[in-house]
Amino acid sequence: MSGELWKLTAHEAHERMRGREFSATELTQAVLARVEDVEPSVRAYVTVTASLALEQAREADAKFAAGTATPLTGIPVAVKDLIVTKGVRTTAGSRILENFVPPYDSHVYEQLRRAGAVMIGKANMDEFAMGSSTEHSAFGPTHNPWGLDLVPGGSSGGSAAAVAAGECLGALGSDTGGSIRQPAALCGVVGLDPTYGRVSRFGIIAFGSSLDQVGPIGRDVEDVATMLDCIAGHDPRDSTSNPEPHPDFRNYLGRDIRGTRIGVPKEYFVEGMEPGVRARIEEALALLEGLGCSIDRELSLPSTEHALAVYYIIAPCEASANLARYDGVKYGYSDRSGPTMWQNMEQTRAFGFGPEVKRRIMLGTYALSAGYYDAFYLKAQKVRTLINREFEAAFQKYDVLVTPTSPTVAFPIGAKLDDPLAMYLNDVYTIPASVAGLPSVSVPCGLSEGLPVGLQIIGNFWGEGRILGVADAFEKAVGWANRVAGL
Ligand code: GLN
Repeated sequence: MSGELWKLTAHEAHERMRGREFSATELTQAVLARVEDVEPSVRAYVTVTASLALEQAREADAKFAAGTATPLTGIPVAVKDLIVTKGVRTTAGSRILENFVPPYDSHVYEQLRRAGAVMIGKANMDEFAMGSSTEHSAFGPTHNPWGLDLVPGGSSGGSAAAVAAGECLGALGSDTGGSIRQPAALCGVVGLDPTYGRVSRFGIIAFGSSLDQVGPIGRDVEDVATMLDCIAGHDPRDSTSNPEPHPDFRNYLGRDIRGTRIGVPKEYFVEGMEPGVRARIEEALALLEGLGCSIDRELSLPSTEHALAVYYIIAPCEASANLARYDGVKYGYSDRSGPTMWQNMEQTRAFGFGPEVKRRIMLGTYALSAGYYDAFYLKAQKVRTLINREFEAAFQKYDVLVTPTSPTVAFPIGAKLDDPLAMYLNDVYTIPASVAGLPSVSVPCGLSEGLPVGLQIIGNFWGEGRILGVADAFEKAVGWANRVAGL
């Protein structure tokens, strides 16, 4: 029996550990054995922390014995490798941080540990979260458990693949323009990007500071709600974190969603979407209608077409500022072989950063330079306001918006690596909500050519409960929850 424990959802595992059917140590051992089996072909992790996991599992068992266990106690999780963990190497997928061992813990990891979760390892990712395929990791690509020659999506591809492959029961990712939802869609799992400000970013390696959020990836909606409960909430160490208390997100599950007003923006159903994706989304909308929701397909968000351009100005600008700290002086990789400080800094970055990161730094530095700031960054921020206003108007009429998560299913490794623009187009459906700071969740809605398709549900600010409620009802109706890829 214990050989199959990695197939459980976190809530199933929790119930059974509470019933003393197995211990957290046994569960962790089963997951670590699964990691040993499949990790050579999936490569979801940059670092596997097996002995730490077993130590944390023993602590979890003590909590069960003492009656102080909570829903995540003893649950094996993967943590994206830009979430800093004291004493455990944190690379952000970059050579420049290959040997960086943080001296402190991020807020979200502290929260996981307080709840008694067990960390299996640090999950692979596109370098500094820049990418949609996890191919931009300095440590090699992660493979999609649904097809090993396919990408898992990105940038949280390691987190999503680990959940889908049974190499953990849940994971944390981060989302700047789609990096939780898109890999969740491509790996057939659930991923949620919270409202900007819902989760503290203290100890998160920064990419685009006006966009970055940490969020959960799980095998079903309930697990995602449970993890969000654990990591959400105020943290005085992040000035953007919301001081208001958050609701118990699990309270929104299992509810009747009849009467929910759903807007389906026209602009999301244009060229570029694969026919199989379109078919699954149409079926999903019919199913939601069958559940008693009203579906309005007349909604128009005309600025949607500018969101990608806005994002690819704002995110690189902010990245160029955030990544200035990697200079080979303070921490991280350092090349000191040159005759001058400037030369050493140049050599450090030339070797330490990969091509996509260099491309973003150059784009951002250019767009922020004197004479260009108004034309690019300021203009982009203005269009961002237009996008926000359109969403604001839409939420006067609708409770949630429903769209595809990604225009395509998982694509072959290497297919888009030489074409940055084709890669950027993967996020055409996830970027608008990110630009506006809205919460959104991707939930599996079936297969196209044997590969998972994701349905995106976007909510109003602080409306995670509502989108989780709709996602939960949909998940139950479509009958998908907790499918582990057949490796
Ligand atoms: N794929 C997008 C990018 O490359 C989004 C990444 C993310 O959300 N971190 O920037």
